[in-house]
Amino acid sequence: MSILYPIGESGQFLTLEQNVLDHFVKWRQLDLKMPEAGGQLFGAVEGQRVKVKLATGPRRSDRRGRFFFIADRLAERLEISALHKSGLHYLGDWHTHPQYVPIPSGTDLSSMADLFARSKHDLNAFLMVIVGTAEFPEGLHVSLHEANAWSALNVERET
Ligand SMILES: [Zn+2]
Repeated sequence: MSILYPIGESGQFLTLEQNVLDHFVKWRQLDLKMPEAGGQLFGAVEGQRVKVKLATGPRRSDRRGRFFFIADRLAERLEISALHKSGLHYLGDWHTHPQYVPIPSGTDLSSMADLFARSKHDLNAFLMVIVGTAEFPEGLHVSLHEANAWSALNVERET
């Protein structure tokens, strides 16, 4: 099973593939003591579909707390070049929130804008997924980020 999100009026769809959903489920902050987790999202464009095929992280060198997650950016850059060789392209980042239905924080929005503006890439936008504690897709926030704009994607249907 995958979850499908139309990308605006573009006719394109973003899909979160099953193993990505399985990875998210493992890191949901269901327990009050669980710290935030996060990592990177990789995939490929196939026709009209942008398929998110792999979610990585968290890793030991990340800094994690109940209400924060700071990734090891150096390790992440190395991961991006390693996976690129196997045809998996960096698409964006994911992290968890201890919220039933996750809502991006001001820091989430500004750091995605910053990341998009500062890093070298050829994407039209960076993807951000926030994993809450509700069942999916309700417990997922999915959005696309540019330097000066962002938009949330709404789920179409489960396939
Ligand atoms: Zn957040």
